[in-house]
Amino acid sequence: MKHHNPISLIILSLTTLLTLSSCQTEEDTHDPFFDTYYITDMGLNVSTAHQSGGITVPAKFNAVTGTLTPLCEDPLCTHTVDSDCPFIGYSKNNSYYEDGILYYWVNRTNTAGFQNELMAYNMETAASHVVVTDEELNEFFAESGAESTGYNYQFANGYYYRRLRDDNDNTIGYCRVRLSDGSIEEIPDDTVVPSAYYKNGQYIFVEYNGGIANGFYLADETGEPGNDHDVHLADKQIAILFDEEITDDTLLYCTIRRDENGAWLWEEMTLWAYNIEAREEHVVIESFPDVYLVRVGGYVYYTLYLDDAPVIGINENYNGKEVVNRSGGILWRTDIETGETEKAFELPAYTLIGTDIHRVGERVVIGYQNTDYSDYIVETTDRGEWYQYKETTGRIVFDTAAGTVGIYEEEEVENGSTIISD
Ligand SMILES: [Zn+2]
Repeated sequence: MKHHNPISLIILSLTTLLTLSSCQTEEDTHDPFFDTYYITDMGLNVSTAHQSGGITVPAKFNAVTGTLTPLCEDPLCTHTVDSDCPFIGYSKNNSYYEDGILYYWVNRTNTAGFQNELMAYNMETAASHVVVTDEELNEFFAESGAESTGYNYQFANGYYYRRLRDDNDNTIGYCRVRLSDGSIEEIPDDTVVPSAYYKNGQYIFVEYNGGIANGFYLADETGEPGNDHDVHLADKQIAILFDEEITDDTLLYCTIRRDENGAWLWEEMTLWAYNIEAREEHVVIESFPDVYLVRVGGYVYYTLYLDDAPVIGINENYNGKEVVNRSGGILWRTDIETGETEKAFELPAYTLIGTDIHRVGERVVIGYQNTDYSDYIVETTDRGEWYQYKETTGRIVFDTAAGTVGIYEEEEVENGSTIISD
């Protein structure tokens, strides 16, 4: 079984809602960017990161051509920690794309000292600027008694939200920053942030109970649910799967069960489809020990952890142990209505990364990472000897409309990307 930390699920919700909330600003118009691209990250000059000073920059993957392009296209930029690259200190987990602009937090030390800044990068013009800094947030809220402003990052609907906390981690308020102009405002304590846009000016708000989603409700942008505060699926502990557009009334979710110690029982998770309008639900996959999937058309696409996984190599450095491909190189798909499951493709030589799955228009993109245990170097460090095996990474694109598969190995970029690691 795969082991996930529940935290990863929350992160999934936060990161995947980016795609959705970026669509709401244009109401019912769809951002064509996502028909071709998704934003990922890419190591530049990081073959030996600590030695060369390489950095990770955001990049856009074109699912039609299979090409990965770093967002910093300045031909004079060396993309190293001592350069002026706007992406030094970039982390994909704290980034948000909306209307052609990538917003991201960076932690870095420059001539002004250590900085924690929210940046905006215009994809069209390649211009970047600072939206707001931690320092400005601290100053703004010093009067309200916040010792530190906290790091509860969340972006939604053209705003960046932050919880204000004191040194004992008690919440003492909330603020938000308007991304377009960097203005800061304090917002009421009971402010709720929508998780996704639904339709007709309505948003989905998750109802939380002890950190676990206990259903959801619909409300306008302000979170004002109306008189009855009508919560759907209130009797269930669920993980709502936001990594697809809600193109019809169907919301996908997994039920969560926990043991007496609170640990998640992944093997007891079930994937459900819930029709919001009809308030009807049905089981899609009875045993679905995962939360990583994408939805295209009437199908969900995902990988599974195979018990009888194919052997793909031998590791001589580890007592000749057999190396297996746990995914089997299989991308599965299940019809949401009928529950029928089949293989979208099967490529046993490719070790798929089930968490690195994306929908791009009508295509499914999944990352792979193959390790060649017969091709390695021995690296000696002060912590001992390490085997560095050759690794090949890339992406496989499944075109759901054409039924075709494209394999795109990640090319070694200038001065070498990370292709060898332990
Ligand atoms: Zn750069």
